Amino acid sequence: MKKYTKKVFIKTLGCQMNVRDSEVIAGLLTANGYQLTADPIEADVILLNTCAVRQHAEEKVWSEIGRLAKRRRKIASSLEGAPRNDGNNKPLIGVVGCMAQNYKEKIFERSADVDFVVGPSDIGKIPGIIESLTGKKGQTTESGKSSIFERKIWETDGEARPEQIYHTGFFQDKEHAYVVISEGCSNFCSYCVVPYVRGPIRHRSQVDILREIKGAIDQGISKFTLLGQNVNAYEYEGIDFAGLLKLVNGLEGLKEFSFITSHPKDTSVDLFRAMAEACKLKKYLHLPVQSGSDRILKAMNRGYSREHYLQLVDKYRKLLKPALLSTDIIVGFPSEEEGDFQDTYDLLKDVGFDSAYIFKYSVRPGTAAAAMQDDVPQAEKERRHGIILQLQKEISKKVKSKKEEGKSTS
Ligand code: SAH
Ligand code: SF4
Repeated sequence: MKKYTKKVFIKTLGCQMNVRDSEVIAGLLTANGYQLTADPIEADVILLNTCAVRQHAEEKVWSEIGRLAKRRRKIASSLEGAPRNDGNNKPLIGVVGCMAQNYKEKIFERSADVDFVVGPSDIGKIPGIIESLTGKKGQTTESGKSSIFERKIWETDGEARPEQIYHTGFFQDKEHAYVVISEGCSNFCSYCVVPYVRGPIRHRSQVDILREIKGAIDQGISKFTLLGQNVNAYEYEGIDFAGLLKLVNGLEGLKEFSFITSHPKDTSVDLFRAMAEACKLKKYLHLPVQSGSDRILKAMNRGYSREHYLQLVDKYRKLLKPALLSTDIIVGFPSEEEGDFQDTYDLLKDVGFDSAYIFKYSVRPGTAAAAMQDDVPQAEKERRHGIILQLQKEISKKVKSKKEEGKSTS
C-alpha cells in the first residue's frame, strides 16, 4: 500500500524575513516527508507565519485564524467516520512567528482551534512538535510546557537558531533567494516590537552565509537578497558588512544581489564605497527615515538627526550615481504636531525617493512608545497618511520619468 504523505499549507504574513522563515520551515518539513500544498482544505497541517509589527497586521492574523478554524471544523465533520490514512481526521493549526512570540500561550485563549504556537527562534522544532502532536497523544516537548494544555504546545523561549535549519537546500524561487545574515535587532526604536519578538541581534558567520549561497547557486539560483533588520550592523570575527559585500560579490555564478534593511545610524560613506566597488550589487538602498522632525526622531530613539540623514543621501547619490533610494515613514507618532509633520513632508519633497512605505503609528504594547500618550487622533493619522501617500505618488512618478529621460538622452 502506498504510504500516505502528509500535506502542509503555510500562509505567510509580514516582511521578507518571514518569507524566508516560511521557506526554512517548508524545507525542514519536506525533508521530514511532508508535501507542500497551496490548498488549506487538503492540508493535514496549517501554519500561519505571523507579523506583529503593527496592530493591523495582527488583526489580519486573528481573522485568518478564525477563517481557517471555521474551515477546519467543516473538514473535520465531513471526514467524520472516514479518517485520513494516518488516522487523524482534522488538520493541526500552528501559529508561528512574531505574534506567536508576543502572545505565547494566550493565543490558545483567544482561539481554541490553535494546536501549537512557535516563536521565531524555535522554528527548527516544528517538525518535532507536529510529530509529538500527531504521534503519541499528549506527548510534550522537552520544555514540558504543554502539560498545562492538553495536546497543545508552545515553544517560544529559544535564543539562537541552530545553523543547520538554513541548509535544507529548499528555495521557493528558481532564480532568486533570500539569505538571512543577521537575526533579531538590538536597536529598540521606541515604537518597535521587533527586538522583543525576535530577540537581540545575532550575526551568522560569513562561512555559513557563503555556504548557503553557494548551495543555492548549485541549484541554478543567481540573484540574492541579504536580509537583516539592520544589515549595516553586521560583524562576525572581524568581517563587517562592507567586507561581507565583497565576499558575496566574489562568488562565482552569482549574477546580482541586494540587501535590506539599512539603518541611518550605522550607514556610512565607507558602506557607499563598498557598494560602488561591488560590481554585482544592485545600486539600491532602503534607508528608513521614519520622520523628518528632529524632535520626533529623538522620541523614536532613532539615533540620528534630519541633517545627518540628508547628508547621507547626498553622499550616497554622489558616490553611486545613478542609484535607487527608498524609505519608510511613520505618521502620527505620539506628540507629532503639524510642524513635525510638515518637516516630514518637506524631507520627502527634498529627497525625492524612488519609493516610500508610509505607515500610521500603531501602539505596540510593551514598547517604550506605548508609555507615551497616543495623542494623534485616528482621523488625523489618516489625513497625514493620505497627504504623504499622494505626495510620494507624485514624486515617484516624477523621479521615474526623469530617470527614463536621462536614460534616453545618455
Ligand atoms: N528593521 C527595519 C524594519 C522594521 S519594521 C527598520 O529598522 O527600518 C518595518 C517598518 O514598519 C519600519 O521601518 C517602520 O516604518 C514600521 N513600523 C514599525 N513599528 C511600527 C509601529 N508601531 N507603528 C507603525 N509603523 C511601524
Ligand atoms: Fe525595529 Fe528599529 Fe530594529 Fe528596525 S531598527 S527592527 S525599526 S527596533
